[in-house]
Amino acid sequence: MTASDPAVAAAFRVAEDWGGPYDIGAGVEAAREALAPLRELHKPTSDYSGASVCDHCLGDDTLSAPWPCATAKLVYPPEEL
Ligand SMILES: [Zn+2]
Repeated sequence: MTASDPAVAAAFRVAEDWGGPYDIGAGVEAAREALAPLRELHKPTSDYSGASVCDHCLGDDTLSAPWPCATAKLVYPPEEL
């Protein structure tokens, strides 16, 4: 759990303005749950050449979608990219 983890960063941003008792662990888990559908869409896979690409961004009209894509950089902690 690092400050560059988007779920942790979101939980701490909320904590700054919360104004009452706040469970940072619950905040992190809530943020992870909110990001889970995006992580399921934007996940790494290999293209025909073996290069790592984004499974979602590599659509019919896109010939190249290097991993990590722009969305992945927002929803994955750096150590998972
Ligand atoms: Zn993507």
